[in-house]
Amino acid sequence: MLITGKVMLDIAKQNKFAVPAFNAGSGQLLPAVIEAAEETNAPFMMAIHPDELSFLGDSYIAQVHAAIQETKVPIALHLDHGASFEQVIHAIQLGFTSVMFDGSHLPFEENIRITKKVVEAAHAVGVSVEAELGTIGDTGNSIEGGATEIIFTNPKDAKEFVERTGVDSLAIAIGTSHGIYPKDYDPHLRFDILEEITELVDIPLVLHGGSSNPDDEISKSVEMGIAKINISSDIKIVFSNKLREILNESGSEVREPNVMFPACMEETKRVAIEKINLFKANQKADLYK
Ligand SMILES: [Zn+2]
Repeated sequence: MLITGKVMLDIAKQNKFAVPAFNAGSGQLLPAVIEAAEETNAPFMMAIHPDELSFLGDSYIAQVHAAIQETKVPIALHLDHGASFEQVIHAIQLGFTSVMFDGSHLPFEENIRITKKVVEAAHAVGVSVEAELGTIGDTGNSIEGGATEIIFTNPKDAKEFVERTGVDSLAIAIGTSHGIYPKDYDPHLRFDILEEITELVDIPLVLHGGSSNPDDEISKSVEMGIAKINISSDIKIVFSNKLREILNESGSEVREPNVMFPACMEETKRVAIEKINLFKANQKADLYK
């Protein structure tokens, strides 16, 4: 069942759970995350990054739409990190129901100007918009990128940004980075900043790059008002580790995709279910009926 990002996240915020946004940028990852959602009766956002879209080609979106129509769980089709007005319009034309415009690297006024333009265009056709303020870190091993240094979201700026742009949800920087953290790095979330933002801003808040933050911190952030958490690296690492294992097996001459991939897809599905349960999104699909 296809729904908009706004409906998806408003219900999550009201019911104090977070929707996982899975970057399922291949024909193998898509059924794995849908099966995970079906088995846990969970809603989720199917996120596709512009780099994934250019790799897959526009025709992949027709396959995604067909898969969404076939399943009963609610799914929003979301453009992850749209970098320009043009990319957002392209996604809307393809039938995305939610788009992110990421102007977090731009000066504040410029971020507001373009986000506002995106909101006007997207809302005219019933598509929801996520924006970003502050910068998510970058560990250098993810497609989403980010900044070398995290700039924490200023709560007062967040309030002004939301009021002036009319955006539906906001990605904030409270101490997460895209990708997987180096072994010697100990990530912690700034709950003081999150608390201040939730006091000033009433729309659903989004966490990017929460792959390796401790589970108890993620749970706490959900209780405090995070309504969407992006998951990309976590579901891809286990897939590729399994694939490497299968290809490296001694004497392995495996070459058929339908022989190589099923065990890898099971790994992705297992981790997707873990995240759904951690975010308390399990058994929440019925709230969307
Ligand atoms: Zn991101």
